Amino acid sequence: RIVYVDGHYGPESQGKVSIFDRGYLFADAIYEVTCIIGGKLVDFDGHMVRLVRSLKELDMPMPMSPQELLAIHRKLIADNNVDEGLIYMQISRGNADRDFNFPSKDTRPVIVMFTQARPVLESPLAKRGLKVITLPDIRWGRRDIKTVQLLYPSMAKNAAYEAGADDAWLVQDGFVTEASSANAYIVTVDGRIVTRGLSSDILHGITRAAVIGFAQEAGYVLKERPFTVAEALEAKEAFITSATSFVMSVLSVDGQMIGDGKIGPVSSRLREIYIDKAVGARI
Ligand code: PLP
Repeated sequence: RIVYVDGHYGPESQGKVSIFDRGYLFADAIYEVTCIIGGKLVDFDGHMVRLVRSLKELDMPMPMSPQELLAIHRKLIADNNVDEGLIYMQISRGNADRDFNFPSKDTRPVIVMFTQARPVLESPLAKRGLKVITLPDIRWGRRDIKTVQLLYPSMAKNAAYEAGADDAWLVQDGFVTEASSANAYIVTVDGRIVTRGLSSDILHGITRAAVIGFAQEAGYVLKERPFTVAEALEAKEAFITSATSFVMSVLSVDGQMIGDGKIGPVSSRLREIYIDKAVGARI
């Protein structure tokens, strides 16, 4: 695989960053994961808008223009001949002696990018649906910033696997925040889609924004409010969204079946619409 590291393209064996990279020492870095379908990028502009926001919240400069970042994305996709999968981009504050204080403003950010080929449209999990467990949400208070500080989500996903499930839904004060790396939704018995509103409690999903818009256009009633685990267990359907899963049904929570325990009509319709519209508009 050809990767991009700090201005250079080369084989992944040579893709190395400094031990002084602040991403490595302090998780002082932000990232984006953009989906590739047919060699093109899904909702690249949405990812750029969030990237700019994450950088601003951490007082980091935008290291180059969105057009320049797009050109690197496109070159890596072409060099690696990726048809379907994802491209990861990380921007760290750069290299500096280890110090809790931020380094001087002229420290150069370090950009890293690589591709991962994998099936997305015909993903086995999308066809089967997910089993999730619930775990306490003990992450930090700025989950709206897409930092690489992902140890707890990684532990949560691992715990889910060990429990025979596919993912974890994180719970704060009895209310679901989101999944380990996706936003969480239920469909109530009266057909309303419910998902937690935007705040620093959750990541502002690019897919979430798109799916909410498409759902409303399609005439679904959608409420942005927190929901409890008990409500999820009584729901007709549950699902998640993320850049690389699109829309995926959740069939059970903590071993208890949601609705009839099958992929529901609302989530499968929203998946179709997302593929038609967002994937259809890829660049
Ligand atoms: N929530 C968390 C914690 C995530 O890590 C992610 C994506 O990685 C999402 C939600 C979904 O965001 P997006 O739709 O932008 O991929």
